[in-house]
Amino acid sequence: MITSSTTTAVRLASHRLLVPSSRRSLSSSAANQFRQKAQANNEENIRRILPYLSVAALAVGTIHLSKKESTAAENKEKVEEKFATYWPQNVMILFGPPGAGKGTQAPKIEGVLGIPQLSTGDMLRAAVAEGTPVGKKAEAVMKAGGLVSDEIVIGIIEDRIKHDDCRFGFILDGFPRTIEQAKALDAMLAKEGACVTKVIEFQVPDKVLEERITGRWIHKKSGRSYHIKYAPPKSMKSTGWFTRTIVPESMKDDFTGEPLIQRPDDTSSALVKRLASYHNDTVPILKHYEPAGVVKAVNANQGMNDVWNSTLESLKRN
Ligand code: ADP
Ligand code: AMP
Repeated sequence: MITSSTTTAVRLASHRLLVPSSRRSLSSSAANQFRQKAQANNEENIRRILPYLSVAALAVGTIHLSKKESTAAENKEKVEEKFATYWPQNVMILFGPPGAGKGTQAPKIEGVLGIPQLSTGDMLRAAVAEGTPVGKKAEAVMKAGGLVSDEIVIGIIEDRIKHDDCRFGFILDGFPRTIEQAKALDAMLAKEGACVTKVIEFQVPDKVLEERITGRWIHKKSGRSYHIKYAPPKSMKSTGWFTRTIVPESMKDDFTGEPLIQRPDDTSSALVKRLASYHNDTVPILKHYEPAGVVKAVNANQGMNDVWNSTLESLKRN
């Protein structure tokens, strides 16, 4: 006899056969709910371990990269050591009157050759700002547009070229300025078996220099130079419609936002003295280096980009 309890037992038994054990006791909507919950659990679990997985992946990647990097660094060091030991130093002089564009082109040459620019003017200005004994001696002479003593500038350069960043060579800007300085430079280089390998002469007529010098603003810390007409900083503001007057407070360095200054010797009257000493004391240096075949002339009386292209050309081997 089939009782209702038997029917229930058979129904339950057949359900057990058709449905996987974990869901046997569930109806289809309950099964859906279960599935959704399981999926949500999985996602939650993945979300929880994801940061750990990322860190692990990053660590594996970093180990791999740092291994690669350390090999690259070792190789770089070996190549550098080879150059420093066997190759001649690249000793370059940027030559030209005040305002010729030496300081404008120097950072670009640094970028190409990877050797530092050594500007005696920048070093002396730093000494003046710090109030060192050298600075105290140099300040008044510089302001008037005169030349600081050979002894002082030769000493400054002699110390500076011993620094490690000069071992492949260096770019001299504003040194030598007298025959005595040139001879002292040759002698200090000769001690290391080195010599001047290039003199880049920036040629520009005196008459364009006053506008360049009186319109120059510099960022003291870096030596970067700007010009109110030819290379204005992004921040420059002026007032007046016809005769435009520069707002001094608006003159800021493009890279740091720090204020720009005008050099105390960048005046028309000091320029007269600076140009006289350039023609009398400095120009004869060209004759000193010409026999070595290292002097290259660049037309510096053209736009800055064209000056750069000619400079780049002059850096090449003959
Ligand atoms: P130097 O270092 O030879 O004294 P700078 O490079 O400081 O000269 O240049 C003097 C001024 O002339 C700066 O204000 C600079 O922006 C500007 N200048 C540089 N080269 C040129 C050029 N080719 N044309 C116009 N102005 C220039
Ligand atoms: P500069 O920045 O090259 O125009 O130099 C600024 C000033 O620093 C010059 O007018 C000189 O008074 C002094 N000065 C820079 N370099 C030398 C140098 N080699 N010999 C003598 N005085 C220098």
